[in-house]
Amino acid sequence: MNFVLQNSGGLERGPSPPYKMSDVVKEVLRLKEKRNAIILAHNYQRPEIQDIADFLGDSLNLARKACETNAEVIVFCGVDFMAETASILNPHKRVLIPDPSSICPMARMLSADEVERAKREYPETDVVLYVNSSAECKAHSNCVCTSSNPDKIVNAMKSSKVIFGPDLNLTHYVENRTTKEVIPIPRYGMCPTHHQISKDDIETALKDHPDAELVVHPETIPEVQEMADEIASTEGILDYCRSSEKNEFIVGTENGILHRLRKEIPEKRFYHVSELMVCPPMKMITLRKVRDSLRDMKYEVNIPQDIADRARKSIQCMLDVLGR
Ligand code: 13P
Ligand code: SF4
Repeated sequence: MNFVLQNSGGLERGPSPPYKMSDVVKEVLRLKEKRNAIILAHNYQRPEIQDIADFLGDSLNLARKACETNAEVIVFCGVDFMAETASILNPHKRVLIPDPSSICPMARMLSADEVERAKREYPETDVVLYVNSSAECKAHSNCVCTSSNPDKIVNAMKSSKVIFGPDLNLTHYVENRTTKEVIPIPRYGMCPTHHQISKDDIETALKDHPDAELVVHPETIPEVQEMADEIASTEGILDYCRSSEKNEFIVGTENGILHRLRKEIPEKRFYHVSELMVCPPMKMITLRKVRDSLRDMKYEVNIPQDIADRARKSIQCMLDVLGR
């Protein structure tokens, strides 16, 4: 298969490959053309979804790509908050998620009431929310961040204290990179997939692969972050492994990323930390559901306009801090 790498990161699919396609893939490609649609997919999607996507990326690059596209329809193969972000940024486009039960549990750990309570307790304090949060929570925040920039965004806020959520592990990552006081909300927000990697798992992996570098996502626990050679977003992990002089890597994030790493960097070796590193909601989307989504124009993301308008300001804040 032929791929073209983009400057902004992520992966743009190149010309059609000369291989035998399944009937479902043929239907997806035909319907995509008919609907003038683009398929955006996160790096944790099933391999067969990654292979038909027009663009693969982390949360930030997917949001940027959603802003750039001229397609009329965006089929978003990822979890709910990612499709919501694409929809908020594109109020005049139809954004479809092939399975509406692809729900990120971390994004449900924080409620808008809790954000408001923290704002009352700490007046004059900016609220930065990880993009893994509901549209309603974003609407109550000053700025969002993704895993590739939480420190930059927190440091760009005017207040000396910052309310930050919902991931306590990402809070730890930020606290190590800011002089501001970080006030976490909620008390126990975390990603069940990343939170389960223990120090013992890492020690075992390092024993099995003594020459490998350890690259982890900032949603891992502090003890694991401290053992890592690099902490990065999923796209950052791909960039790091591409440019490192090392040839072997232990990858401390959801295992779906291994498909892309092995496909794009075939000359290097990649090992997972544990076969338990799976995000079930990310795997809900199948080729047939993508086909049905394009055929029946389902399931459309609809966010009440007042919430979308306020959440857009917060997402825009991040894009402005990053210079887009
Ligand atoms: P990235 O933005 O790094 O791809 O992370 C999204 C996510 O949900 C990680 O669990
Ligand atoms: Fe949410 Fe964790 Fe899945 Fe990422 S890996 S989408 S944070 S549950």
